[in-house]
Amino acid sequence: MKTEVRVNELSCPFCGNNNYCGVNSSSPCWCFESKIPNALVELLPNKLQHKSCICKNCINSFNTHPAHFKKSIQLKP
Ligand SMILES: [Zn+2]
Repeated sequence: MKTEVRVNELSCPFCGNNNYCGVNSSSPCWCFESKIPNALVELLPNKLQHKSCICKNCINSFNTHPAHFKKSIQLKP
């Protein structure tokens, strides 16, 4: 099977877990109501910004320990 290189809008760009984004479902996604800190979005490479949702987990850990979160993220190039 061939691996496609594309943005998976269903997985969190930071941790790769399911972000439970409702972008493809009929009900509005939780992320519409959730405030994602700009500083957190800025940690993403440009091409990933506003493409896929960041999961609640990552938002929470960023809010709790921004410095620790920055160290722990492993972005794929
Ligand atoms: Zn995440």
